[in-house]
Amino acid sequence: MKTIYLVLPCYNEELVINDSAVKLKQLMSNLMNKTKITNNSKIIFVDDGSIDTTWNLLENICQNDDLFGAIRLAHNTGHQNALLAGMMAVKDLCDAVITLDADLQHDINAIPRFIELFEEGYDIVNGIRKSRSKESFFKKLSGDMFYNLMNLFGAKIIKNHADYRLLSSRALNALAKYEEVNLFLRGIIPQIGFKSTTLEYEEKPRLAGESKYSLSKMLKLAADGITSFSIRPLQLITVSGILFFVFSIIMFIYAIVAYAQNGTVPGWTSIVAPLWLIGGIQLLALGIVGEYIGKIYLETKHRPRYEIAEMLMTETSVH
Ligand code: UDP
Ligand code: MG
Repeated sequence: MKTIYLVLPCYNEELVINDSAVKLKQLMSNLMNKTKITNNSKIIFVDDGSIDTTWNLLENICQNDDLFGAIRLAHNTGHQNALLAGMMAVKDLCDAVITLDADLQHDINAIPRFIELFEEGYDIVNGIRKSRSKESFFKKLSGDMFYNLMNLFGAKIIKNHADYRLLSSRALNALAKYEEVNLFLRGIIPQIGFKSTTLEYEEKPRLAGESKYSLSKMLKLAADGITSFSIRPLQLITVSGILFFVFSIIMFIYAIVAYAQNGTVPGWTSIVAPLWLIGGIQLLALGIVGEYIGKIYLETKHRPRYEIAEMLMTETSVH
């Protein structure tokens, strides 16, 4: 029998927190009664610097029930960092962690199956969403674009996997050794190694409230995923550089030949057009190089990725 911790990041989730707590408690108590998990198992909410009443609600929930724990981050650091904060805080208190969204879009009925696979010896179990039929057209489209873009640029990620996963404490300790600031868990986890598998689940609609993943947060996640795991954009610059070099030699020869034949000055368009084109490409290339340099700059600072402000938990270590 294993001690399992659930870790749920939440940002301004006052509309869903109580509801999810009730549903999760039901599930965990049921698993405890069936002796599938130990009574030391817990449900941990990570408040990612919410500015609504989320933390007050969490304080209430934890006060009345030892099953719950809560971690409050000092400011909003984003879903990925909140997940990491939660996992790192509990990695030595349990045998495995399951991370899921606080809005319970990740179907909690899959949790017993996650635990079974862990008992069978898997250190990493990645949840894969079966259908996205209940999501908005925009969410589906942007999600598909995200995966295709990531794969095009060489960041290998598992399709339709969105941070609903189980990690054993062994895998968590391995994850702790990755010190990068630009965190993209979906890219790092496959690199940890260990025995891993996937598990399908049904994506549910949000319990209440609106998505906390704004378009800008999503774009940042995609950019982080690409620039943290792939140098393909840099390679593309090199390839286009070579192509333009070849093209410019041809144009050079053409200009000489045209001059020798009739001495005419080449037309205005043939000068101005490539000027703009090449100028644009140079700027783009510089921008991409700048992205990478920016990353290097950030990584060299070794700044902390999150700061825990408060922690409510009754500790019962298993190790
Ligand atoms: N979240 C977070 N910090 C953020 C944004 C989101 O901790 O800055 C949490 C959020 O509370 C939820 C999970 O990440 O538990 C997924 O976010 P959401 O449901 O808003 O995204 P969607 O399901 O729409 O992609
Ligand atoms: Mg959601």
